[in-house]
Order: sequence, then C-alpha cells, then structure tokens
Amino acid sequence: MSIHLLPPEVASQIAAGEVVERPASVVKELIENALDAGASFITITSEGAGQRLLEVSDNGSGIKAAELPLALERHATSKLTNAQDLFNIQTLGFRGEALASIASVSVLTLTSRTSESEQGARLRVEGGRVGALIPVGAPVGTVVRVENLFFNVPARLKFLKKESTEKKEIDHLAAQYALAYPQVRFHLKQEGRWSLQTSGDGDARQVLAELYGLEAGRQMLEVLADYDEIRVRGFISPLSLTRSNRRDIIFFVNRRPIQDSQLTTALVQAYQNMLMVGRFPFGAVFIELPVDTVDVNVHPTKAEVRFKEPRQLFTAIQSAARRALLAYTPVHPLEAPLGWTTGPSPSEPQLNWDLPEDRGSAPLSGGQEPVHTQTEIPNQSVPLLRLVGQLATTYLIAEGPDGLYLIDQHAAHERVLFERLMNERSQTIASQALLQPAAVEIPAAAARLLEEQMPVLNRLGFHVEPFGPGSSGPATYLVRALPALLAKMEPAAALRVLVEDFEEDETPLQAEIEAKIIARVCKRAAVKAGQVLSAEEQRSLLLDLENCTSPRTCPHGRPTMIHLSVDLLERQFGRKGAR
Ligand code: ADP
Ligand code: MG
Repeated sequence: MSIHLLPPEVASQIAAGEVVERPASVVKELIENALDAGASFITITSEGAGQRLLEVSDNGSGIKAAELPLALERHATSKLTNAQDLFNIQTLGFRGEALASIASVSVLTLTSRTSESEQGARLRVEGGRVGALIPVGAPVGTVVRVENLFFNVPARLKFLKKESTEKKEIDHLAAQYALAYPQVRFHLKQEGRWSLQTSGDGDARQVLAELYGLEAGRQMLEVLADYDEIRVRGFISPLSLTRSNRRDIIFFVNRRPIQDSQLTTALVQAYQNMLMVGRFPFGAVFIELPVDTVDVNVHPTKAEVRFKEPRQLFTAIQSAARRALLAYTPVHPLEAPLGWTTGPSPSEPQLNWDLPEDRGSAPLSGGQEPVHTQTEIPNQSVPLLRLVGQLATTYLIAEGPDGLYLIDQHAAHERVLFERLMNERSQTIASQALLQPAAVEIPAAAARLLEEQMPVLNRLGFHVEPFGPGSSGPATYLVRALPALLAKMEPAAALRVLVEDFEEDETPLQAEIEAKIIARVCKRAAVKAGQVLSAEEQRSLLLDLENCTSPRTCPHGRPTMIHLSVDLLERQFGRKGAR
C-alpha cells in the first residue's frame, strides 16, 4: 500500500479519540468552556447515560454568530495566540480541539448569542459535516447539544461501560466542578431527574454533601494553608471516616481537576499511623500555584499536569493536611464533636493560621520538612500530665495545664506498644522461646499469608515453622517462640491474631502489612479495660504516652484520650459566659 494522507474525517476521528473517550469527557469539555466563558449558571442534561443526548447550556459570554463555524474548527481557540501563552494559561481550555472533536463523533448543535447581538445563531454539525448558519431567538449564552455520541464510531460504543457506570461518572464530574466553583450554580438532570443542584452561593460544604454523602459532608475537615506561592485549600475526611481505596481523593490544580498519584500519596501519608492499615482518607484538595510553575499541556484531556517543584508541593499538601487533622482531631473535646454543623463556635478548636513563626513543634512523623512554615503546626504531643488516678479500672484521670484528661488505658497502651515495636523493628524484637513447642493448625488461605510474611514474623520475635504435610486443607505450624510481649498468650491464639481476617483490599504494601501485624500484636498485648493497674503502672503508662509521636490516637485511629478544658468546666459550672 502506498503512503497517502488520511481523509480529514478520519484524521479528526482519530484525534477525537484522545479527547472524547466517553460521555463524561464531553461533559467535562463543555463545562470547562462554559466556565471559561464566565458563566454563573450551568445546566447539564443527560439522557441514555449521555450517549443519546448531552446538553450543556450556560449564561456566559456567548460566541459571535460569525465565529460559530470557527469555534468548531480544530485548533481554533480564543484563549491562546502564541506559543509563549502556553506557559501562562489562565483558562481551562486552550487546545481548541474539544468542540471539533466532539462534533466529529456526534450530531452537534451549537446555539449562541452574545450580549451585543439582538438574536442568536445556530449551527448543526453531523459527524463533522457543518450545516448552514441560521438565526434563532436565544438568551445570551451558549447551548451545546450533543446527540448520538459515537454513532459513527461503533467500535468506541462497544468500549463504554454499563449505563450506571457512565451515569455515575457524569454525576461525579459535575459535582467535582461544582465543588471547585461553588460560586457557580450547577444543575444536572439525568434521565429526566435532577441529580445535582447547587445554589452557587459559594458554600462548598453543600456540594461536599452531594459528592460524599450528607454525613461526610458535615464532618469533613477544612484545610487552608499557604506556603510561599503555594496555597492548599480543601476538605479532607476526619479520622472517623475512611474508604477502602484511594479513589475518592481528588485534586484540583488552579481549579482544574487532575490525576496525580504522587499528590494522592502525599495526602495518604498525612494520615500515617492514624488510620487503620488498609483504610484510606478521602477528600477534595485545591491547590493554587503560579501558572508558570505548572505545565498543563502534557495530556490531551488535560487530566495530568507537570510540576516544576513536585517535591515542594508534596510536602505542602502533607503538612497542610496534617495541620487540619491535628487542629480538629486533637484530644477529643467532650462538648464539640468532630466537624461542625453551623461553622466553628468559639469553644471549638480554632486554627491558628497566622501565628508568626513555627516554634519547632512536634516533628511530622513522615519526617518531611515543611516547605516553609509560616504558621505554627498544632502540637500533636500531649502536655505534661499529672496523674490523679484510675477510674472504673478502665480510664486514667490526669490533670494537664489546660484541664482534665481522661485516658483510655487500653488504647493508650496500644499506642505505646505500637510505637515501640515500629521503632524497634529494624533490630530484632525480644523473643521468648516456648518450653514446649506448640503445634497450631491454620486454614489454608491464612497459611499462605503466614508464609509470605515469615520474614516479618521472625523480626517480630515469632519463630514458626511448617510442620507436617498440608498441600490442601489446613496447614500445621510449629510455634517455637513468641514475641516477649505476647509470651503469656496461648501460642495458637497468638498466631491466629496475625492471620485472622486480613481483608483482601487492594494489594497492601509490605510496609502496610507490617504495620498491620504490629498493630494486631499490640492490641493483644496491651492492658485491657477492667484491669487494675498499680500506681506505678499508671504513672509509667502516662509517661510512655507523653513520649509518643502520635499519642492522641491508638494505632487503629480511635482516640486515646478525651479532654475537658478548663474553659469548658468553667462554662459548665456557670462561672463564665453561659451561652
Ligand atoms: P478551547 O476551549 O480549547 O479554546 P474548544 O474547542 O473547546 O477549544 O472551543 C473553541 C472556542 O469556542 C473557544 O476558544 C471559545 O472561544 C468558544 N467557545 C466554546 N464554548 C463556548 C461557550 N460555552 N461559551 C463561549 N464561547 C465558547
Ligand atoms: Mg474547551
């Protein structure tokens, strides 16, 4: 076959494939155009999961009638004029190919009117063939109607997911933009029903509820921090709410939604040792940074970007998230539950963003240096505590400079043991040999896990070896030694602690499995509720807790202590400003 130029329709269908992958991609491009046009109200209508009909109308600036045909040409844009502009992009669009791409794989009708014009104009394109420009009555703004998406690319149709998935994708996408642009009113109607209606009054929390559910919307923690030229804002989940994967973490860079696994990792790491292993936070994080420090022109759908200083951004996210967590999750205040419903009241922990200097507070456990800390990181450590005594053989009572602390002895001890083992794990942890090795039977699936984790177990002080055959069915293991911490436990029980219900989440990272195993060992080894502790034991537990890096939560993320502030006590006793 000889070389020949592709017919223009074929070339544009090929190019369209990069931009328009599914109905939600059309919604994304059309919303971005509406936002670029300065719209304050955007209505999206979808039918047949977006394949039969997608219509986006806006009250933005509109397109001049004479320019309508041009808007549909590939590489035609009003947002960029020279190559230099590429490094100073203030708009969401700039490639000038969305409308052309969508028009080449659908039946597209573009109706628009600018405020200078008495009437609107309409243009219809069918699979790339442009019809005649006709005058129509229309309000100022633009309506893009996309019918029969992919009608001329049957192969693409086959790749669409089931309708419910495509619909969810559209919902999610619209909600994302609604969240990033709370001052814009978004209405989305799917299959004749309104599925998203925001007021555009600037209240992001209302949109959060749409995205993550009512309860989560209410409880999510607000993030707000500035580092030199980087500003990090957003909402992240409190410790009490988690997901089984990272999918619900979304990032916006200069109000453009992007995917970036590095940034996701930064957020996840901010929760390190505070969430149960295998559980993940969720949230929406908005990053603003100078346009010339981010290259948005690396991906046709603009879903990925490149940063000049990724490292800085990474630490900024981590430290901003950590601040929010520490500010809102510190010692659980009795009166004010996590999160708020009507905005922070004076009794709730307040963020102190504008303290002049970092006073060298507790290091972030991730070991990262904050980029440039202009504000104080709320201290995660606990103040020096004076022991008062034990209550209900379950809690310790202590006095701090700022009030009364009730400490859950089991959770506190878990935290202490967890940090000790995590720190010691590079060396060998004390192990105690059993006088009589014990044979323990373990179900096949659990045995596989045990085998895989043998090196970790050895380091933790378990000496376990396979015993007897067992190619199918339960396998038998011989336990020769246990970690000194668990020495008093029955060997079979000690071993089962390790392998019970390991969830088959995503493939957990080795480090996560290790932490999970250690957390389990600690749970078993920690003093129980109902256990009488001598005064000496109480004192040393308190001291050990004070020395922890994250003393306020147990390794599973539950609080170790409750704080009754002096302020709260005074108000409760009517000594001060009863509200
Ligand atoms: P880009 O957004 O990258 O410029 P598009 O193909 O999406 O490329 O749009 C082409 C041009 O059409 C835009 O630059 C803009 O001038 C105009 N346009 C598209 N949609 C709208 C809209 N909703 N309101 C006003 N102008 C629009
Ligand atoms: Mg565009």
